[in-house]
Amino acid sequence: MENDPEPFSERLRVPEALTFDDVLLKPQESTVEPDEADMTTQISTNVTLSMPVVSAAMDTVTESEMAVAMARNGGLGVLHRNMDVPEMVNQIARVKRADELVIPFENVVTVDPEDTVREADEVMERREVGGAPVTSNGDEVLGIISSTDVRPHLEVDETDFVRKAMTDEVITVSEDVDPRDAFEQMYEHKIERVPVVDDDDRLVGLVTMQGILQRREYDDAARDDEGALRVGAAVGPGEMDRALAADEAGADVLFIDCAHAHNRSVIDSARTVKHEVEADVVVGNVGTREAAEALVEFADGIKVGIGPGSICTTRVVTGAGMPQITAVAQVADIASRHDVPVIADGGIRYSGDAIKAIAAGADAIMLGSYFAGTDEAPGRVVTMNGKRYKQYRGMGSVGAMQSGDGNRYMKDGEEEFVPEGVEAATPYKGTLASELHQLVGGMQSGMGYVGAASIPAFKQRAEFVRVSSAGQQESHPHDVVITDEAPNYRPDGE
Ligand code: 5GP
Repeated sequence: MENDPEPFSERLRVPEALTFDDVLLKPQESTVEPDEADMTTQISTNVTLSMPVVSAAMDTVTESEMAVAMARNGGLGVLHRNMDVPEMVNQIARVKRADELVIPFENVVTVDPEDTVREADEVMERREVGGAPVTSNGDEVLGIISSTDVRPHLEVDETDFVRKAMTDEVITVSEDVDPRDAFEQMYEHKIERVPVVDDDDRLVGLVTMQGILQRREYDDAARDDEGALRVGAAVGPGEMDRALAADEAGADVLFIDCAHAHNRSVIDSARTVKHEVEADVVVGNVGTREAAEALVEFADGIKVGIGPGSICTTRVVTGAGMPQITAVAQVADIASRHDVPVIADGGIRYSGDAIKAIAAGADAIMLGSYFAGTDEAPGRVVTMNGKRYKQYRGMGSVGAMQSGDGNRYMKDGEEEFVPEGVEAATPYKGTLASELHQLVGGMQSGMGYVGAASIPAFKQRAEFVRVSSAGQQESHPHDVVITDEAPNYRPDGE
């Protein structure tokens, strides 16, 4: 009969969808040494990073401390949104200020020529600075004083005035100072800090040797056009006030943060945000070709992942999801035709997973559990059975939804949550820098096996082979008892 519905049994002719453990990169002839592999990548229309790594917008992963460390190392931290808007604005400002060359006037510690050296010493100690411009009438620079100048006076007479102890021949630089000039001035005059003055010789800021050296230490850092560190900020669907405030505060990328972004109202509100802000707008999460089609015409980047996360229960609670390698490949099929970058979010346990995500078509990866155990993640270290851990929880877990608004999982205003994530503990791992070293080092080695010297070349050249369950067993250490922990390998679940 013509109107017969399609038999249900047809639904059982299902396409195959694969994830990390189902595939391996095929080794190919190579002339590339791993440490030569260039990891530069684009994560959104206007943001290029020197490593393809982004930290997750989760309240146990990314606050300003993590975002600063990520950007200094060349990646990007995305601030979570379980904080109110003024707090998010504060945190963005903290990242933007972290490595600034010129400390702006309002943050410069100054002393008055008529203060006593005791008072000046106390101020400098309290504000943790080694020296301060001496000003009168607020911003007229009369001299500069350091704790070394103060010390002999403290010994002899601590009521001496600053005027007596200060150096009154002050080297200054102008507002358009570049780091090299400032460094040369300080080097030549053997000084630690130079006041920045305007055309009328009024104090507008301060450059310190410590600040310059810090910037030099991180020469691959992710910086904006002004040289400040880059930062991302998560924004819920429809949270226009947060989007505008984060944009105004200088966030470089807004991440429209939703568990299922292939949803008409989420897409409409993301498009509205895109029209209203200067920052790039990345939208996610999605996991299909059809969703990518809906986003490519306006998004600056697409984030992929429906249920792969380590703390995530979406697939078992809702029955929906898409294994991550297939999800990334489907989205990348569409996005690459429109030059829209793709970020693979969730499920990455090893550096090998990370580089497989890139081979499947991603331009960058987002990680939660990989970073949650580092010093820079929020929360403290706890000891259980003699081992050290940090808390790690899904943003759709009961605990996280109670302290936020829960709308990533569309539970606005409901009294009892239906969680899609769990609260957990993850092994304490030490510094972010050493985790990144292992992660990126492993990815570069993967590029060496494939014979690609850059991310775009790798994406072109990589080929997968399918792995059986016997093959997968063979991939992990087997038939041995591990006696010493490797820095880049932990058996699953440990
Ligand atoms: P991980 O790197 O730990 O495997 O995954 C981190 C990612 O999991 C996050 O970036 C986010 O996309 C996703 N995620 C975070 N919290 C939850 C949750 O409670 N439920 C689900 N389904 N996904 C989550």
